[in-house]
Amino acid sequence: MFLTMTTPHTIAIDGPAASGKSTLGKLLADHFGYIYFDTGVLYRALTYVALEQAVDLANAAALAKLAQTSNFEVLAPSVADGRQYTVLANGNDITWPLRAANVERNVSQVAAHPAVREALRDTQRQIGKAGHVVMAGRDIGAVIMPDAQLKIYLDASVEERAQRRAQELNARGRAISYNEVLADLTRRDAIDAANTFLAADAITITTDGRSPEDVFQAIVNLMGVEAQA
Ligand code: C5P
Repeated sequence: MFLTMTTPHTIAIDGPAASGKSTLGKLLADHFGYIYFDTGVLYRALTYVALEQAVDLANAAALAKLAQTSNFEVLAPSVADGRQYTVLANGNDITWPLRAANVERNVSQVAAHPAVREALRDTQRQIGKAGHVVMAGRDIGAVIMPDAQLKIYLDASVEERAQRRAQELNARGRAISYNEVLADLTRRDAIDAANTFLAADAITITTDGRSPEDVFQAIVNLMGVEAQA
């Protein structure tokens, strides 16, 4: 199939954890001169603040209230330490703590509450409405930006995703084994499944054995636009 499209103003990328959304999202955003917004950051930031304030993670109303009263900011990287962006929660830099084990262990439980999803919905939709954005998550193409001009669903086997995530974490100095990462992703996939959607008009790409650059190139080719990267 060859599909010629005009440049999209909004691109939605959905798919499970470690399917390559962030790397692809950043490549596409840089290519088109758009901003990249990783919605997982919002759920992670809320989980971080809830753990810090000892909010009961089973209490949907308390979590939703915390989402409404917290100030989360996603800014250009403020430190050259490999971060894609800087995340502030109520003024504090939580960019790396968001990736820590305690957040990873609890974020899916927090994100599963409908009241939490509702509390974070408008923020995401407003970013989408502004346009010129590549937004990544689980429900972007189906719920947050159903009008996105380009929707991509990235998939990969859980084994491949665990391998990638273990390498990434080890490279950052976290001693975690492939089996531990595999168990964590399997557990998170099961909880996240209820809110992970393949939009009817999304292009599905399986990324097993493919580099992010290869996937990027395939998408750009599909759109009939010459890659400048
Ligand atoms: O994408 P990432 O792995 O950073 O997302 C962390 C968690 O946030 C996911 O495991 C999922 O529970 C939740 N999430 C979500 N909907 C999104 C983005 C993330 O439920 N749009």
